[in-house]
Amino acid sequence: METNRPCIRCGKIPADGWYSKSGYCKECAEAILNAQNTASTNGVSQKDWLVTLLLAIFVGTLGVHRFYSKRIGTGILWLLTGGCLGIGWLVDIIMIATSTFKDGDGLLILSDSKKREMGISAAPIVVQAAPAKADQSKSYIDQLAQLAQLKESGVITAEEFDQKKAQILNKIG
Ligand SMILES: [Zn+2]
Repeated sequence: METNRPCIRCGKIPADGWYSKSGYCKECAEAILNAQNTASTNGVSQKDWLVTLLLAIFVGTLGVHRFYSKRIGTGILWLLTGGCLGIGWLVDIIMIATSTFKDGDGLLILSDSKKREMGISAAPIVVQAAPAKADQSKSYIDQLAQLAQLKESGVITAEEFDQKKAQILNKIG
C-alpha cells in the first residue's frame, strides 16, 4: 500500500498516513519547516531590541526585560535582588545596547542597525517618498532667509532682493 511507505527522513510509517509532497511524515515536515524559519532569521531573536532596552533602563531592576525576553528564571532573580544589586541590571543594559544580550532561546536580540550591519533583514528601510511640497517650500523659505541676510549685509540691493524674492515666491505658488 502506498500509504504504508516510510517517511524518507525518519523512516517511520506515519500513524496518521499523512505525507508531505516530498514524502516526509508530519513531524519531519514540521521540523524542516521550523529549521527553515530559523535559518531565514539567522538565529536572531524576534524580540524587539528597543523595547528590551527601554524595559531594562526603566524597570530593569524588576527584571521586566528578562521576563520580556523569556528569561523567566533570572527575571525572578532580578525581581527579588533588585537586578543583582544593580550590577546585573547595569550589565544587562550594556549588553542590550551592544546587541550581545540573548533571549530565553539563546538568540541574540539585535538592534535594526546591527541586523543590517550583519546582513540580516531588519525592519524594511523606509524608502523616502518623493520630496514633499512642504519640504520644497521649506527650502524656498531657506533661500528667502539667505536672501534677506544678503540684503541686510549689503551684498545685494533692496531692489535685487525684491526681484529674487518675487522669483522664489513664484516657484512656491
Ligand atoms: Zn519522519
